[in-house]
Amino acid sequence: MDSASNPKILILDDDTFILKLLTRMLAKQGYTSVISCDNGHDALKKIDTAETCPDLILLDLNMPDMDGIEFVRYLVDRQYHGELILVSGEDERMLKTAEKLVHAHKIPMLGYLHKPVTPEKLAEILNTWKSHSTDNSLKTDKKSYSAEELRAAISNHELVNYYQPKVSVETGEVIGVETLVRWHHPADGLVFPDRFIAIAEQYHLINELTTCVLTNALNQAKIWQQNGLSLRVAINVSMDNLASLDFQDLVVNLVTQAGVSPQKIVLEVTESQVMGADARVPLEILTRLRLKRFHLSIDDFGTGHSSLAQLRDIPFDELKIDQGFVHRAWTDDTLRAIYDASLSMAKQLNMETVAEGVEDQNDWELLRQTGCDLAQGNFVSKPLQAADFPAWLEAWQNRVRNGLIADSA
Ligand code: C2E
Ligand code: CA
Ligand code: CA
Repeated sequence: MDSASNPKILILDDDTFILKLLTRMLAKQGYTSVISCDNGHDALKKIDTAETCPDLILLDLNMPDMDGIEFVRYLVDRQYHGELILVSGEDERMLKTAEKLVHAHKIPMLGYLHKPVTPEKLAEILNTWKSHSTDNSLKTDKKSYSAEELRAAISNHELVNYYQPKVSVETGEVIGVETLVRWHHPADGLVFPDRFIAIAEQYHLINELTTCVLTNALNQAKIWQQNGLSLRVAINVSMDNLASLDFQDLVVNLVTQAGVSPQKIVLEVTESQVMGADARVPLEILTRLRLKRFHLSIDDFGTGHSSLAQLRDIPFDELKIDQGFVHRAWTDDTLRAIYDASLSMAKQLNMETVAEGVEDQNDWELLRQTGCDLAQGNFVSKPLQAADFPAWLEAWQNRVRNGLIADSA
């Protein structure tokens, strides 16, 4: 079925009257493939089944049993890739807070609707969806890839590393880069990691993928070293990589073979996945890597399930404040409170702080005023291919010399 012409919509609300009302409103606007559920458990079953997995969910926040926020957590666990509209009778502030939470979880959200929902408001929000999905029809085509396709991509060297700079906020000096993998797909063009990392994890290809990313990153690190550039190179490590003790040998061997110092390698571990039943193995791997002087970074801080427990248990050197709490924190009290708390916790634990998602001069100024160590984000640079790095570096050094003028972005 072509989901662009008849998208699947799921409505989740404990109020059956609302379910009927919204279904009717949607039908009047031409959306006929609509499923309604009056509780979260039923809705999750629909999401788990390929034929009924929706392209859009209209979600009520206030429900007995599983509420809307809890439901969003389960969507994250399932790597839900559709869109979301929050529907609630709660006040504006509550809806905004919920919206931020959804953003922090990186679930695409079209917006929110106040109850009682009017057909006009619903039409307005659905129109933004339509234009958005036609704009991006190629990019957001929900085509998913099979394990075989991904395996072939890895062996055909179709996975390419991009590098996003991390710079010192105080001096502008380029301290390192984060490696972000992309798939140069022969037919589909540039495919972003959110489309294939989960598949790699699910089909046990994540060690292969990480090996490929790390190998390429080490080659690049050596080239930079030879050119006199001393950069810390970060790679993203999935919790699934940390499931077997072999991983630590693999990393140590690759880094030793490449002749790169472990101190120049940062392993970014995202805390947004729940640690498996047995957390001892990841703990052991990370501790041993730390003893070998690898840098450990806790990624997406603030969005996950067990951030504080992980901070207690794992000797991290670096804390990355999630972009959801960085961009616009200068103007938003709620974001600012989370940003400040993360920063001060990191400082107390003697960790270096990296703010992600620094998008504009205002974000940058906040980092400067609050003493955040490193900045990463489009204000500094988008992720680059290695070939584009020298030109960016020169332009960046000019910007720094000129005092990082607002219009230089
Ligand atoms: P992440 O580790 O949080 O990476 C940061 C993401 O934010 C990147 O998305 C980056 O392109 C994006 N970003 C950078 N600056 C800005 C900004 O100013 N504004 C906004 N809105 N976004 C910005 P990307 O490259 O699509 O990667 C998405 C996620 O995929 C990464 O999130 C990471 O968790 C995962 N990933 C990427 N490469 C790998 C990999 O090699 N292995 C594993 N396991 N995961 C990877
Ligand atoms: Ca990362
Ligand atoms: Ca991150």
